[in-house]
Amino acid sequence: MVVYNCIDCQKEIKFELVKKRVRCPHCGSKILYKPRVTSAVVDAV
Ligand SMILES: [Zn+2]
Repeated sequence: MVVYNCIDCQKEIKFELVKKRVRCPHCGSKILYKPRVTSAVVDAV
């Protein structure tokens, strides 16, 4: 699942909600960003 974060209220926003209109459903901000994934699988060595 792709989830974005609102730069204003920091809430998570599912991609399903922003693929139609890029806007935070919580505060109405149009600036969203994709949070850094920290749960990446380490497959080196
Ligand atoms: Zn927001």
